[in-house]
Parts: sequence; structure tokens; C-alpha cells
Amino acid sequence: MKGFVFSGPGKGEVRTLPDKTPGPGEVLVKVAFCGICGTDMNIWRGTDHSARGIVPGHEYCGTVVETGMSVRSHRIGDRVSIDPNIPCGCCEYCRKGRINLCENLKALGVDIDGGFAQYCVVPETQLYDIPDGMTFEEAALLEPLACALNGINRIRIDLGDDVLILGGGPMGLMMLQLARMKGAGKVILCERLEGRRTLAGELGADLVIDDADKAEEVLGKKPDAVIECIGSPGTQAKAFELVRKGGNVQLFGDGDMTRTFSLPSMICYEKELKVTGAALNPFTHAQALKVAASKRVNLLPLISGRIPIEKLKETLDRGYGKDDVKILVAWE
Ligand SMILES: [Zn+2]
Ligand SMILES: [Zn+2]
Repeated sequence: MKGFVFSGPGKGEVRTLPDKTPGPGEVLVKVAFCGICGTDMNIWRGTDHSARGIVPGHEYCGTVVETGMSVRSHRIGDRVSIDPNIPCGCCEYCRKGRINLCENLKALGVDIDGGFAQYCVVPETQLYDIPDGMTFEEAALLEPLACALNGINRIRIDLGDDVLILGGGPMGLMMLQLARMKGAGKVILCERLEGRRTLAGELGADLVIDDADKAEEVLGKKPDAVIECIGSPGTQAKAFELVRKGGNVQLFGDGDMTRTFSLPSMICYEKELKVTGAALNPFTHAQALKVAASKRVNLLPLISGRIPIEKLKETLDRGYGKDDVKILVAWE
């Protein structure tokens, strides 16, 4: 089988890999689509970590083609979506139900082989059935949607609250739709790329701006909640400045681990802010399936390109361009 092997920042190639056999409790999945995530880009640039010598790709789905011993939950032919994050189950955090904070977390496509290959071995605990009526392309976006759901579950949004979303990438465009589902009053999305601003309007943003400093002016007040979906120190600091007193800030964006930002030391005190982070997708994959199946979150417009595995390296090298939102590696 063919697969892309990551050997270090900026280094990787498509190789012919040995066929895989699922062990007890595992299945072999024939991959249909695997999304290229900002995290994959960060790993490629060396600003986020990953094991070397593995197949990356953690946003994927496909069909079960073989089941290992003692697998009960799935059968050959099942269409499945994969939650790539595997908690250990025994650490202090797992035992408190905080599985995304697991001390020994292993992720398919980050620590062990993932979806940028024709086939992938997946523990049955990580499989979710794709409902009829949902395409594989939509299912490839369930993992990022599950992460966005963790974010929206962790920030308080009351009915009628005005929500500012900084960044109109795939995560920002999902957050926008989720904030509407949560009963936000107005949702304003700030994005510097024109194509993404147009998409934000089509996906239901009430106001779309190209400069965060315009938010208060177009809204007529400061937003009740600000969700930063870029992961850039400048916009992270900006979120604290833009939110109203007593408001909620979420630093959702997954940025460069090596960078920092500074804030006025009294800002949380004076504004009495509630600040949240949101890591990964604890118990939200099933919720993502339901939300996506309801069609109240529209995922297909976020897909801007489908590429063969042979084009993965050049896509990682150049990064997401101005017309890209989410690119999928297509195996079918
Ligand atoms: Zn991702
Ligand atoms: Zn654990």
C-alpha cells in the first residue's frame, strides 16, 4: 500500500509500505479522505511535535475492510469516522473524565500511523458509524468539528449574546455556525482573506469584517464573547482588548508553541473576564456526528480542494493559500 511517511520537519515522502494486519480489538480501515489540518502544517514546519517515521493525518474516515480478533462493534463494510485521540484510561486526568488532558495520550496521525495512507489500523474504540446520507467528505471533517464543539461547549454563550470570531479558516467557519446554533445574537467574523469572508457571509455570519478593530464600530458595542481561531499572538492579545467587561474569551486557535504574547497585567481583573482554552475533542465525536447529520452545520462548503497523496508534500511546503479553506487527500 501507498502512504506518506513523515521523517522530520520539511521531510517526508510517499512510499510503498508493508500491508497491515489488525491485532485484537483493532480493525483495518481503507481510507476514503483525510483532511490536512493546521496542526499538520505546524508539524511540517517544526512548530508542533509528532513522532518521526510515522504516517501523519488525523482527520479521516473510510471503510472497515478487515477486523481483528475479538472485535464486536464493527464489521467489514462499515463506513466509519475516526476519533484519532486515544487516551490511556489510567492516568489522573482520564480517571476524572478529562480524557483530552491525558498524560499518555496517543493520537493516530501524530504519535502512530494515521490517515495519509491507503489503509490504517484503528482500535475499535476510536470508530464511529457514519450515518446514511452523510458523505465521506463530510465525515472527514468530523474530527475538527468535534474539536470546535469542545470549544463552543466550554465558552459561555447566552441567548442573544454577540459573538466575535477571529479567523475564518475551517475552525472559525465551524465556530460561526455553532455560535448561531447556541443562540448567539449577532455573530461577527473577522478574516483578512476575501474568499473566506464571502464564505462566512454565506454560512450565516451577520457581520463580516477584515480588521478586528472595526468590530466595536460595526456592532455598536463590544462583543459579549470573543473566540480566537487563529492561534496568533497578536489576535490572542486582541481578543482580551475587544471583549466587553464581564465577557468571555476563548483562545481556541492552535498556534506556534514557541511564541508568546503579553497582556496588560490588570486586564482580567478590571474586565472580570472568563478565559477558556479548548484542547482536542473529549467525548464530542458523537456530538459532532449528530450535529453534522442534522445539516445545521454545513461542512461541504469548507472543502476547497481534493488532492492525490502525491501532491501532499508540495501542499505542506507551500501551506494553505488565500483560496484554500480545507484540502482533503482523496483516496477514492
Ligand atoms: Zn486537526
Ligand atoms: Zn490518561
